[in-house]
Amino acid sequence: MQKSLLENEKYIVHNKHCRSIENILVIEDSPLLLNGIATAIKTELQINCDVASTEKEAMDLLQANSYDLVIADIYLPDSSGNFIGYLVRKKHRIIIITASQNEERRTKIASLPIVDYLYKTDEKTILNYLINSIIRLQKNEKSTVMICDDSQLSRLQLRQLIIQQNLPYIEVKDGQEAYECIIKHKLKIDLLITDVNMPRMDGVNLIRHIRHHYTNNELPVLAFSSSEKTFLVAELLKTGANDYISKPINHEEFLTRLNISLDQSRLYAQNQQLIQDFKTMSETDFLTKLYNRSYFYRAIELIQSQAKRHKQPYGILMLDIDHFKTVNDTYGHEMGDNALVSLSKILVKTARDSDIICRWGGEEFLILIPNTNMTELSGFAQRLRKIVETTPIKSNSTQFEFNVTVSIGIAISTENNVENIENVIYIADKNLYKAKHSGRNCVV
Ligand code: GH3
Ligand code: MG
Ligand code: MG
Repeated sequence: MQKSLLENEKYIVHNKHCRSIENILVIEDSPLLLNGIATAIKTELQINCDVASTEKEAMDLLQANSYDLVIADIYLPDSSGNFIGYLVRKKHRIIIITASQNEERRTKIASLPIVDYLYKTDEKTILNYLINSIIRLQKNEKSTVMICDDSQLSRLQLRQLIIQQNLPYIEVKDGQEAYECIIKHKLKIDLLITDVNMPRMDGVNLIRHIRHHYTNNELPVLAFSSSEKTFLVAELLKTGANDYISKPINHEEFLTRLNISLDQSRLYAQNQQLIQDFKTMSETDFLTKLYNRSYFYRAIELIQSQAKRHKQPYGILMLDIDHFKTVNDTYGHEMGDNALVSLSKILVKTARDSDIICRWGGEEFLILIPNTNMTELSGFAQRLRKIVETTPIKSNSTQFEFNVTVSIGIAISTENNVENIENVIYIADKNLYKAKHSGRNCVV
């Protein structure tokens, strides 16, 4: 399926050639290497892998099955001499393994429409390289590359290389079109490959604009040019290109640089995700997804400074479920957890977006309400108490339901003591204690 990005269908992400790598054929006559590769693919990647040690065996398998990737040794005992040509004609995705270091052969192989090729060194090196290549092919399916070049021939050449790498791509004819897609339409691109000399907007200007919005890590740019201007490479890199390659493009070098850029941007994205996950984990309570105490103490500084600047008092509401131990004892711990989640949802629904709701401890919650007064605060607390009292807690599996009540203590900062939040919490806590002692299910 191809995705049309814009209503006028001018820019299209081409991904018909992409497929997930689920079935691999390895053709290799050394039993040791063949077994090593197949085992690594099956155990490390959990991908189905068939093996053949002769051309005849390979042909039989290729006719009976469909493969998403063929890893093939060039020299086999029954080599006909045109087996790789056959694989290419049948449009297989191919990684070639070769023992030949001959320059002429290298150039010839590199010019074929294949994913990659590698030299037979030691088994460990071959396995590492192959496994990384397969992982990359799998990930590539989810990354979009933009090819930006005014030369139709050059775009065609790049397109063929990109297609082999299982990468979705989008083509544009100059910097202006790239600018429209990336900056104006905020199209998500994982890598930009751009020519430098182009009409309307050249590569240097395009990169300059992109770097106003995206860092080198967020959107890597691989620039290429046939220009021999002395300072061009330095200028491009200083403007924000991640890498440079000169025209005419050497396929092998281009693919290596493409892979480095893609690997780096993925590592960056992965790190960003990890940071985000850790942040969420450190700030929120696992069960209720409310903020925890640690987040509260990080967030109050801003609330306090706003309260001080605008002379707006804030309120603290401390809430504790009544006889929660009995809830656990009567209905079980799981239902107790349900009650905590259900109560949390009521708090989120009833409070304003600007309020900070925290799970303070076991069945105790704290809500910080910025810019409020006593009338508003006690009105809110009463409303909350009533909603809890009348909302049944339901069981996930069985039909039964029950109700809980809450006791609430509230306190408000005065204009002069906005900084002493501990004191406001202390008063709210004392009021909660009073509420418990005056019969529960009430606000003090
Ligand atoms: P009170 O009305 O005085 O607040 O009585 P209470 O029973 O609610 O208070 P107590 O402090 O005696 O008991 C709190 C109970 O809350 C005990 C504890 O096992 C339970 N609890 C704390 N955290 C959780 C939790 O995450 N899940 C469940 N199911 N129970 C919890
Ligand atoms: Mg309680
Ligand atoms: Mg308690």
